[in-house]
Amino acid sequence: MILANENFSKVQATYLFSDIARRVREFSEANKNASIIKLGIGDVTRALPQACVDAMGKASREMGVDATFRGYGPDYGYEFLREAIAHYDFQARGADISADEIFVSDGAKCDTGNFQELFSTTTIKVAVPDPVYPVYVDTNVMAGRTGPAVDGRYEGLVYLDCTEENKFVPDVPAGQVDLIYLCFPNNPTGATATKEQLGAFVDYAHKHKALLLFDAAYEAFIVDEDLPHSIYEIPGAKEVAVEFRSFSKSAGFTGTRCGFTVVPKECRVFNSSGEAIPLAPLWKRRMSTKFNGVSYPVQRAAEAVYSEEGRAQCKELVAGYLANAKIIRERLASKGFKPTGGDNSPYIWFNTGMDSWKFFDKLLKEAQVVTTPGSGFGRCGNGYIRISAFNSLEKVVKAMDRICGVL
Ligand SMILES: *Cc1c(COP(=O)(O)O)cnc(C)c1O
Repeated sequence: MILANENFSKVQATYLFSDIARRVREFSEANKNASIIKLGIGDVTRALPQACVDAMGKASREMGVDATFRGYGPDYGYEFLREAIAHYDFQARGADISADEIFVSDGAKCDTGNFQELFSTTTIKVAVPDPVYPVYVDTNVMAGRTGPAVDGRYEGLVYLDCTEENKFVPDVPAGQVDLIYLCFPNNPTGATATKEQLGAFVDYAHKHKALLLFDAAYEAFIVDEDLPHSIYEIPGAKEVAVEFRSFSKSAGFTGTRCGFTVVPKECRVFNSSGEAIPLAPLWKRRMSTKFNGVSYPVQRAAEAVYSEEGRAQCKELVAGYLANAKIIRERLASKGFKPTGGDNSPYIWFNTGMDSWKFFDKLLKEAQVVTTPGSGFGRCGNGYIRISAFNSLEKVVKAMDRICGVL
């Protein structure tokens, strides 16, 4: 008989977004004239930068002519894109990363989800922050690295609590952990980590022969000069860290699909004899076996992100969302809440003082604004709400007027 992978049934169906959608649907059916404003799902709303649209159009036309047509591209991405990434995202910030350490993909969700395939499914201990982007957790559950969920936490996983006390930046694990997921600027809390804080994780990884998986999908939202954009700005990180990036939030690519993963040559894991072995060949093996690359027009569009116009247009795009975030933060603070995030991230996170879903329902019914209940991201999110800055200025202002009117 064809036996199912029963680890899949361990995954706690997070009904988060479908639950939100159902409540919104029920409310709109009962209130036909309601004009609902969505500050919930983490999807961008503004159009692609013109430089990207132009590059994609030009590349599409090249595909329609025999002389310039391209079939399968290089396994790890076109050189023109990998060179631009290495130069602008890393070397220009003092991080010594070269093009052959960049692996272009169709986004950071796939890469953060797939990367765990490179590690043992039986012996390693995995740590995740709480609250967390669910992909890190669920893919490890599917791979069989956990027991069942008990009270919303999987047996065998180590949870790094992110709370008001630690300003939503967790401490390094107390005992031995082998794989640690980190995400800064954070989804859902909007928190950022300093060089010192990331340095503590890099030191931990060296000392414990561990590996860090660093998700920097929101790096473009950092405005504070002192905050690191990349884990490779931390000395010693190249041996112990992999970094994930995406054009989704920085350049509006959520529907276009492009991102990349950095695996430095020096990055090591260990074999069962305890000898250090390089990690990059494992990721290369996986990529060339299971992936055939991102389309040529999309890679040209991603390359255009780094052109002079592209950089200016992306900066403006992000600045627009950050201006929204500032309004959300300030309006919440004016009502006595203590929001975090939104200064170097598109998410604002705050303690509501009541059950997350109860507060969600209040905002939906009384203000007709959709938010995200923090409890959907983990136990430490209980009582919290995430508000996203991904919408137009006009709608954000209107939504915050309404929210402040009912609080
Ligand atoms: C949006 C997001 C990503 C990016 O996902 P893509 O697959 O590149 O669209 C990655 N990590 C986190 C935490 C995110 O919120």
